[in-house]
Formats: sequence, C-alpha cells, structure tokens
Amino acid sequence: MTHDIYQITLPTPYAVGDVHSYIIKNDMITLIDAGVHTKEAWEAFNQQLKTLNLQPKDIDQIVLTHHHPDHIGLVGRLDHIDKIYGHSLVHKWLTRDEEYLQLYLSFFNELYSKWGVPEHFQDIERALKYTLKFSTQSALTNVLKEGDSIPGMEGFVVMETPGHAESHISLLNKDTNEFLAGDFLLKHISSNPLLEPPLQKGEERPKPLLRYRESMKRVLKYSFSNIYPGHGEIFSDHQKLIRDRLVKQEKRAYKVLDYIRETPSTPFEVCQYLFPKHYQTQFGLTMSETVGQLDYLCSIGEIEQVTDDKLIRYTARHSLTTR
Ligand SMILES: [Zn+2]
Repeated sequence: MTHDIYQITLPTPYAVGDVHSYIIKNDMITLIDAGVHTKEAWEAFNQQLKTLNLQPKDIDQIVLTHHHPDHIGLVGRLDHIDKIYGHSLVHKWLTRDEEYLQLYLSFFNELYSKWGVPEHFQDIERALKYTLKFSTQSALTNVLKEGDSIPGMEGFVVMETPGHAESHISLLNKDTNEFLAGDFLLKHISSNPLLEPPLQKGEERPKPLLRYRESMKRVLKYSFSNIYPGHGEIFSDHQKLIRDRLVKQEKRAYKVLDYIRETPSTPFEVCQYLFPKHYQTQFGLTMSETVGQLDYLCSIGEIEQVTDDKLIRYTARHSLTTR
C-alpha cells in the first residue's frame, strides 16, 4: 500500500519553536497531531493545507502522538472529524477530565512541598491554566494501544513510547520502516521526560526518565528509515542518537551523584545546583529533569530517599571508596 507523508509546520508560543503535524495520504487523509490553539497556528494550518490542495474538511481522521498542547491544540477546531485516535490519557486532557485535573494539581502541590520547593514556585494552577489555554476541548473516539493498527493507515502500527509524556505513542510503518516519532525522538534537542501524576490517586508516580530510557533502548533494534519528528528536521540513524543521549544522561546523573555525596539534598536544591541559570524561568522543565536524574540514581542503587516529617532528601548509599 503506497502512501505519501506531508509535513505541516506551525508556530507555537513556546521556547521549542515550531511544531510539525503530518498529513498521511493513504485510503484516507489522516492528520498526525494538531498544532497549538492560536490564531497564527490555525491560519498557517489552513494555508499549508491549501498548498496540498486540501481544506480542513478533507481530513478524515486525526491521530495524536501525546497530550501536550502543541500537539492537540487545534483538534476542537476540526469538529467535523468523527475519528480521533490517541492514548487513553490523551482523552482525559482533551475532555479536561475534572477528576484527573484535580489529581494533577494535588499531586504537584503535595510533592513540591515535600521536595523543598519554595511557595512562590508552587503556582501549579496558573501553569495548568496556561497549558489549557493553548488547546481546545474535544474527545477521543478511539483509544490506541501497543500493536494497534488504524483503518486508513495501512502498514502502520502503534508503539507505546512513554517518557516525554505517559501518553506518548509512535507509529511505525512495517513495510517502509518510516517512523512517526512525535516528540519521542528529536534530532536537535533531547526531549524532556516530564513529571506526571499517576493515573489513580495513591498509586506510585511514573518515573519519566526511566520510562524514556526504556522506550529509547527498545527501539535500538529497529532499522527506521526516515524519522518524522514533532520538532526539528526529518532524520535517520536513530541508534547513534540514542546511544549518545543515554551516555550524556548518565554523565549528568553522576554529576548529581557527586553533589549529593557532598551534600544530601532535596530535589529543589539539586535543581538549583544543576540549573542555576534556568531553574527560575523554566521551573517545571528543570524540576522534571532533576527528579529524572534522582530516579535514575535510585534505580541503579547509588542514592536513596530519606524522609523526615516534612521534606524528602536524597543521600548517597556508598562512600567514594566502595564505588
Ligand atoms: Zn511538542
């Protein structure tokens, strides 16, 4: 089955810059990801569709790689479409599931307090409002899971690739080895494994960096041809990219370990040490990255959590001589 893949590039108000959607022309016309909800993005979307001789109403279905606003933003503007696919968690964000959003807020409020984050950084509600501002309300019609195929996208199968987002899926074409990567693999920057609450209150939180490492290791055995990412250029040779990313991350973890060995610290203190210039302006990102490194060091037995009644600190488990 032949198909064509066309890239659509839309502006975003975020530091990451432009985001890509893709049009797959097969038996049907499928839109992969839906930009961010701004006037500029909607206009650019219509204009670029026009160069493909398409209008929004020609799109038959949408597949969403993950729930972030720069990927689901315009779904609600395409309300003639009755097939919208994505991971079950994307549905909670699209529908603005009240219970889930409450869980989200209380999760961060509780953890940030325990992690030593000063109160003026703890305005989670404002951060959440800002996120929702750039998406539209809608709903999935079909939930995607590992191994699923999608009618009208013959040859493609769904791979769950969590890490950057718990909801992240990618699409592999088994015939051509083309890989629609969303933000799972980007060439010019490493994707941030972002903190998220567990799906149910009281469950253990997901460990985004560990999930991300697993997802990356898992695809090392594939020979993707072209990789179509959510940001940056289309690329290939993901094996080298992944090996480099893993090594770089481990180096950063050992930098954190050296610091903790000197000074048992709260996650916030480690965050200030790792990102002295950026922790204030990019608090959510830098905190996620920091906690990722701490989760990694715990997972390889180098550090452990010590909790007193108010704060969580991390300490090294071995002195230098035994390493
Ligand atoms: Zn993105």
